[in-house]
Amino acid sequence: MKINLRNIAAYLVAKIKIISGKPNKIIEQCKNGDLILSIYTHNMSKHQLNQIIRWMKKKGISFISIEELNAMMDQNQEMPKGKSIITMDDGWNNNIDIMSFCEKLRFPICIFLTTDPIENGGGYWWSYVKKAKEMGLKVRNVDWYKKLENSEREKAIVELRKLIEIKREGLKPYMIKSHSHSDWVSFGSHTKHHPILPKCDENKMEYEILEAHHKLKQWIGKTVPYFAYPNGSYGIREIEILKKHKFKLAFTTKPYPIKLKETDPFQIPRCEILEHVSLAENICRITGTWIK
Ligand SMILES: [Zn+2]
Repeated sequence: MKINLRNIAAYLVAKIKIISGKPNKIIEQCKNGDLILSIYTHNMSKHQLNQIIRWMKKKGISFISIEELNAMMDQNQEMPKGKSIITMDDGWNNNIDIMSFCEKLRFPICIFLTTDPIENGGGYWWSYVKKAKEMGLKVRNVDWYKKLENSEREKAIVELRKLIEIKREGLKPYMIKSHSHSDWVSFGSHTKHHPILPKCDENKMEYEILEAHHKLKQWIGKTVPYFAYPNGSYGIREIEILKKHKFKLAFTTKPYPIKLKETDPFQIPRCEILEHVSLAENICRITGTWIK
């Protein structure tokens, strides 16, 4: 845990929640077959992920791959007991350690890739905004940019990229190719540039989804029918396009567990776990009790 006021206060709140028994209640419901824990993260270290996995295993939770979840939803299977799925978003370069770690541990993970920073290097778009702020340039915060129409946001980022250089933040294509036959590491797409899809016009939205879909097919050698909405932002329009192009599962950032009979395969909820926070806070996050 990174020691700062926010994390210490959050740790104390989390401890109180754990003592109240709410997270444990969710774990028991999972072991009962009432729900599947659905967790995602971004750029977590293998050490921190391992700490979380060890805690979950100790509680009697084991892990399913995205292919297994797809089969369960597709075939209308009964809820399994004590299962969780872990996914990661964006394709950060540190994920290479997680990929080797998952192979070694025989642990299933799915990484949703934003393909342009992987293909062409440089940073994710919001990193340019953050760096500009650090450099003392006059910019608004990332959330403000997310609210712009996509073409406006793109223009603003192009201007920032003229002033700021960021080294590669994403994985390299060969890292994905070398895991394309893995039994433990799976991939899904997360658009080409990570736009806020509802802020794109229809052509651009479809282009962003399809470009990443085709690039992944090139890298992996097969079609990958899994998708995660960038920023968790989507609407009916995005769902329809994914269905049209024969995607099977799409993941949101709504912080709930999965229930096979109730969960829409195109609106799969996920609870976010964070880097640099306490295990206690992440325990509350895993169980979806952090926000309640
Ligand atoms: Zn993302």
